[in-house]
Amino acid sequence: MTDARNSFVLAIHGGAGTIDPSRMTPERETAYHAGLRAALTAGYAVLADGGAALDAVTAAVMSLEDNPLFNAGRGAVFNADGRQEMDAAVMDGRDRSAGAVAGVLGPRNPVLAARAVMERSDHVLLIGEGAMAFCRDQKIPLAEDASYFFTPERWAALQSELERRRSGQADDGDQARKHGTVGAVAQDRNGNLAAATSTGGMTAKRPGRVGDSPVIGAGTYADNATCAVSATGHGEFFIRYAVAHEIAARMRWAGHGLDEAAHAVVVDTLGPIGGSGGLVAVDHRGSMSLPFNCSGMYRGFVRADGVTHTAIYREVYRALGIGA
Ligand code: ASP
Repeated sequence: MTDARNSFVLAIHGGAGTIDPSRMTPERETAYHAGLRAALTAGYAVLADGGAALDAVTAAVMSLEDNPLFNAGRGAVFNADGRQEMDAAVMDGRDRSAGAVAGVLGPRNPVLAARAVMERSDHVLLIGEGAMAFCRDQKIPLAEDASYFFTPERWAALQSELERRRSGQADDGDQARKHGTVGAVAQDRNGNLAAATSTGGMTAKRPGRVGDSPVIGAGTYADNATCAVSATGHGEFFIRYAVAHEIAARMRWAGHGLDEAAHAVVVDTLGPIGGSGGLVAVDHRGSMSLPFNCSGMYRGFVRADGVTHTAIYREVYRALGIGA
């Protein structure tokens, strides 16, 4: 068991999916690792300074949202109408307070909008126009216009998906191709847990579709008694299987360890039914689990020693004794 007073941990993801190594250039791969490292460094600075897990996960997610390589904030994917609708959530394991937004386009950092819902409203989840009005009231920083969020890669991905639909070509069933998300979980020096998740959702989704990321207990969850979880994957499955809460429930009621519970849900349950994706999780003991059931997940972690670890494919952090 880790001595929580002297230690802390932050784990992040930048989305899971079919990440084909043959289409990844060395430059791109380097840029992904650098993006993950920047997010770890931002969160680490908070935790090393004695800051709260909630602030660390917010800082890490903001860094990933600012990076157009990842599907959240800048770089969010487009829906079938060629618009972006973003979802985000935060949860504080101290008292299970939570905040989320869905279907927003405007906040540069949707995670800040989610956090404002948690801290400055009586609600947990605000959507669409109402969420945007709240953001304006609360002076959440907004992009000047939608072009801030535009990336040619996401636009091209939408066009190719729309073309596939038009031509009547069968979906190859590989939902993993279409998604991505960013998220972070942390335990701070005081032993408190927090989780944050932010996403553009899935390419060519129906306007109005909301994924698992802002659904507390599905894509995001934190409770000091068990664990903090941030998920990425085919959101409909993660909602139906209440993934993040299911992991906490297995720990609480079945006495599972974090890694055992996370693998049971992601690998043994979602894997066989085609619910592609993965998640990052930390528990009240400072243990970590980063399972996924597809070919890759952008991910990383840092502990109090300040050494950042990042990975994309199926490399396992065996030497460090961390399940992946
Ligand atoms: N889970 C997200 C959603 O369904 C997408 C992803 O994580 O890739 O909206």
